[in-house]
Amino acid sequence: MPHDPPFDAEARRRIAPVIVYPDDTLPRPDLAACRAARDGAVRGGRVVVPPREARTFRVAAGQVFRILCTEGPQVGDLNLFNAADLSERFYSGKTRALHGTHLGAGDRMWSSFPHLRPMATIIEDTLDWYGVDAWGGRVHDVIGTRCDPYTHHLLTGRDYHHCCHSNLTRALVTEAGLAPAVAEGLVHDVLNVFMCTGFTADTGRYFMKASPVRAGDHLDFTAEIDLLGVLSACPGGDCGSEHSSDAAACHPLVVEVFDGPAPAGWRPAPVNGYSGSHGL
Ligand SMILES: [Zn+2]
Repeated sequence: MPHDPPFDAEARRRIAPVIVYPDDTLPRPDLAACRAARDGAVRGGRVVVPPREARTFRVAAGQVFRILCTEGPQVGDLNLFNAADLSERFYSGKTRALHGTHLGAGDRMWSSFPHLRPMATIIEDTLDWYGVDAWGGRVHDVIGTRCDPYTHHLLTGRDYHHCCHSNLTRALVTEAGLAPAVAEGLVHDVLNVFMCTGFTADTGRYFMKASPVRAGDHLDFTAEIDLLGVLSACPGGDCGSEHSSDAAACHPLVVEVFDGPAPAGWRPAPVNGYSGSHGL
């Protein structure tokens, strides 16, 4: 049984919330310039990510990359690293705090401390029509961490080796020649590309539902620093039923890198301006 509410419980509940991190002081990306640069570029590298596997790709600062659904509904789990320093990596929690639970055009993927700078900016999202559905579902979340074999084993007692966490680990081992334990330690919480998720209104539980993504849909980014990306084609497929198994229909994803001049007025992201002294 819950505790008895205090006499002023309703008054406390009626207090209006405030946004934790107002972002009106952040520099605004020039999306028109970024899209113009993309449209004037040529298709460069193309990486096919097979179902239930992950692959790496590299993008120079100022270049555009695209995550493309080519065959059927498929969710992708994206990790980003500074290509020159793998300790600087995507920070999903702070990105969520700055932009919200789901990302769209104009939002940035921010890097870990002590860097905390934009790694990539989303410049176009063909699923932006989806908005929010009747369950509170939205696409491209930064809440779901990644599917992993530890949680799967905890819940089922079984091993499964093609969770996104393991796919990302194997791809990083292949790309960087790292020991598996070192690579695994670098894998981090993801941007869930194309995934449709939310929290239930009554209990606040994390839910997923079949992604609205279809062949031809894409999410485009401008790289703000030199990037090493790792993308896993989630074993959950469209994540409409289950993940962490071979049960779901899965499809490949494609990463395209565009080669061209940086957007007009664009500058590489500077490192964070905090002194780093922590008052010491
Ligand atoms: Zn997954």
